[in-house]
Amino acid sequence: MAYSDYPSYRKELESGSLTVVAEVERILEKIDQSAHLNAYLEVFASDARARASVIDQKIAHKTAGRLAGMVIAIKDNLCFKDHKVSASSKILEGFQSLFTGTAIERLLAEDVVIIGRTNCDEFAMGSSNLNSAFGPVLNPLDNSRVPGGSSGGSAAALAAGLCHASLGSDTGGSIRQPASFTGLWGLKPTYGRISRHGLIAYASSFDQIGPFALNAYDSALLLEIMAGKDEYDSTCSEQAVPSYSKHIEEPVSKKKIAVFKSVLNHQGLDPAVQANFHQQIEQLKQKGHTVEEVDFDYLDYLVPVYYLLTTAEASSNLARFDGVHYGFRASEAEEPEAVYKKSRTQGFGKEVKRRILLGTFVLSSGYYDAYYGNAQRARRLVTNEMNTLLEKFDFILTPTTPHEAFRLDRKDTDPTVMYLEDIFTVLANICGLPAVSVPTGYGSSKLPLGTQLMGKAFSELELLQTAKQLG
Ligand code: GLN
Repeated sequence: MAYSDYPSYRKELESGSLTVVAEVERILEKIDQSAHLNAYLEVFASDARARASVIDQKIAHKTAGRLAGMVIAIKDNLCFKDHKVSASSKILEGFQSLFTGTAIERLLAEDVVIIGRTNCDEFAMGSSNLNSAFGPVLNPLDNSRVPGGSSGGSAAALAAGLCHASLGSDTGGSIRQPASFTGLWGLKPTYGRISRHGLIAYASSFDQIGPFALNAYDSALLLEIMAGKDEYDSTCSEQAVPSYSKHIEEPVSKKKIAVFKSVLNHQGLDPAVQANFHQQIEQLKQKGHTVEEVDFDYLDYLVPVYYLLTTAEASSNLARFDGVHYGFRASEAEEPEAVYKKSRTQGFGKEVKRRILLGTFVLSSGYYDAYYGNAQRARRLVTNEMNTLLEKFDFILTPTTPHEAFRLDRKDTDPTVMYLEDIFTVLANICGLPAVSVPTGYGSSKLPLGTQLMGKAFSELELLQTAKQLG
């Protein structure tokens, strides 16, 4: 039987009609048959089998954790002790994690099975998964299309039934956009809700780990287990973690939801996306919620602000990959300077290099204030505006992406064209707010479309409850 949600799966395990061993075997076979998708960079088959039989025993002895037997795929930028991690980059060739990150540690403590690590855009930079050093991932719903990015492998793996849920990281949309392209729930929690310990940093003030799931309940359950304070990440909040999963089915009160006029009339919006968005608005109104059109003057600034700040942070974070400390080292270099230069030149892909150069430039003396300084000020203005809006409204609704999944052979001569795909998702990261993408329909090529709901900081429970009204 195909997996639908954790409670029904758990029931089957407890009744003895299914074992974790059998389920892991079924999934491993399916992964084999789906190798063409290139979703997994590595499958931890023997680990997974061994763990599955231990968990079956725990279930029999009624000592199993809250996620017993849930089969999880992890993005290849999350550290899992004694397993390779590469951020889909050649520069980390051969590198193994020395420790397990907090989010994964907490899932393991509740008896999940980690089935493998998934392909992604190199260092999580991209919206297509075309920037991986290990080749593109195919969208399981249409193999000529991308699954989105950067967490494309995690999305494809779940959409193809090659796990029960998966983890991604979201710096500017990398969970929500692929979720939208593959018909899944994708949650980017509030900044600081989940520890970033063990996540390979791209832009530290934007990055968050989050789940891909098939429904609201599984999203809530995974969030609840991963969230909460952590001494290894000082930006991780100490706020208590609600029992999201326990309350997820409760009826929601009538909400006040804002939509931006600048989004409704946005030039770059695919007509099918626009139609689906309007239909979601109508549906929310019919359920008694208020949906109001508001002005938001910053839409065109979001993508530039995001790319100035994230590349600046990335240029600093990626300085550690120098051919000495980790993974790959260019073989023909002898002098230290040549080791750095050649290793970085050969080890990083084109997009990563572009961003390191851009980030170094915006931080350079003489340009720092004009670019980095102004972008920081703009971030503050946007955040203030959003916080003011969210005093009046419970949520903000947008499409997740301007288009459905695009073709693998898409060629952009200008990289900023692809950057504009992130127009609706980067806002939540700029402001540190939680946002979820929910599958709400299909586009003109019959590929899934997502709608994004964004809320106040730490409003994940209400966010997920209300998001259930979409679709
Ligand atoms: N597409 C965005 C970028 O390339 C988002 C990436 C992410 O969220 N990791 O930066």
